[in-house]
Amino acid sequence: MSTTHTPQSVRLRALVDTVQRNERTLRRFQDVELQLIRAQDFPSLCLVLLDYLPREFGLERVTLWLNDTLPLLHEMASRHPRHASNGNPAASLNTSAETGEAATRLCSQGRPWLGTSASMDDATRNAMFAADMQPASVALLPLVTNGQLSGYLCLGSDNESRFSAGMATDMLERFAVIVAASLDNVAHREQLERLGATDALTGLPNRRYFDERLREETTRASRYRLPLGCLFIDIDGFKPINDAHGHAVGDRALALVGACLRKQTRLGDTIARYGGEEFAVLLQGDLRDSLVVAERMRAAVEKLELKGDDGARIPLTVSIGVAAHAMQLGADLDGLGRMLVEEADRAMYKAKAEGRNRVVMLVG
Ligand code: GH3
Ligand code: MG
Ligand code: MG
Repeated sequence: MSTTHTPQSVRLRALVDTVQRNERTLRRFQDVELQLIRAQDFPSLCLVLLDYLPREFGLERVTLWLNDTLPLLHEMASRHPRHASNGNPAASLNTSAETGEAATRLCSQGRPWLGTSASMDDATRNAMFAADMQPASVALLPLVTNGQLSGYLCLGSDNESRFSAGMATDMLERFAVIVAASLDNVAHREQLERLGATDALTGLPNRRYFDERLREETTRASRYRLPLGCLFIDIDGFKPINDAHGHAVGDRALALVGACLRKQTRLGDTIARYGGEEFAVLLQGDLRDSLVVAERMRAAVEKLELKGDDGARIPLTVSIGVAAHAMQLGADLDGLGRMLVEEADRAMYKAKAEGRNRVVMLVG
């Protein structure tokens, strides 16, 4: 019997097939990821994870387990009871402590767990799935943001060899990072809405929200002994802009600066309109990170193109005060938070005194 393929060409064909398959998978992941990032509220996020994802990837079961011991997630899950008890048991949201403990046993080092449900011990399997809803194989992905476990995403297939222990998990891990960040994002958006804490002019959170976040961020940073940075930002010579061009132009300037500052922050950072023409930012990082972000903000505002009613360009600049502290376990967190903001505020006044349009920190 003769064959038309040499062994090399067979191997090459197999390689090309694998590459093409990987490319298709990557594209599907990117597609879902884009939708996750676009999700503005929890119901939309659920729709992507529990409806779109299983269809796109041909998965028979998808479960999102939420760690509702985290106050933000608890609030969010209880605001949307329809999703918490989803009508379709094949794609569901779950907050049971038992399921969470079982998932934590499987993902021992915080890494994804892949394998057959037959290879789980009975207690774990029963905690994970209803008796008549056991998939043949599963990929269980821990969702972690800022060092906190926000949940697990469990992808289940009726195909026993779909997920197995030896498989590469890099694409799944990357996907889990995006799911976790999107979850965090919608939880904060919902909190914002709940507190009625948005400033209408700039669309940014207001001072009340900032103060709430300050408490949460100092707590989080102290738990993990991480540094927390704060920027205090004040528009330079804003009164003369109002006086010369009118309040409507002043309002436009505020909205423009607010949007520009927001663009320079990262997911997880907090920016708020703190007062009239003052903004405050909380950054997950140390003094060096904070100075970098502050300088980026200063430079970006300086480049803004604000036009008055006469069409002439109105220069805009900001003075930024920077402070950062390492948060220690057991410290007086309210006191530390207040001190951080006051220090950034004082540094901002120093920036004004030194000539404006600059970034300043207090030394010593
Ligand atoms: P400096 O460089 O020292 O910061 O000078 P400044 O003129 O920016 O400082 P000042 O605090 O004297 O002025 C702030 C002005 O911001 C005064 C107030 O009328 C104006 N302002 C506060 N809130 C709003 C607002 O919502 N819209 C408008 N158009 N102006 C506002
Ligand atoms: Mg001011
Ligand atoms: Mg000012």
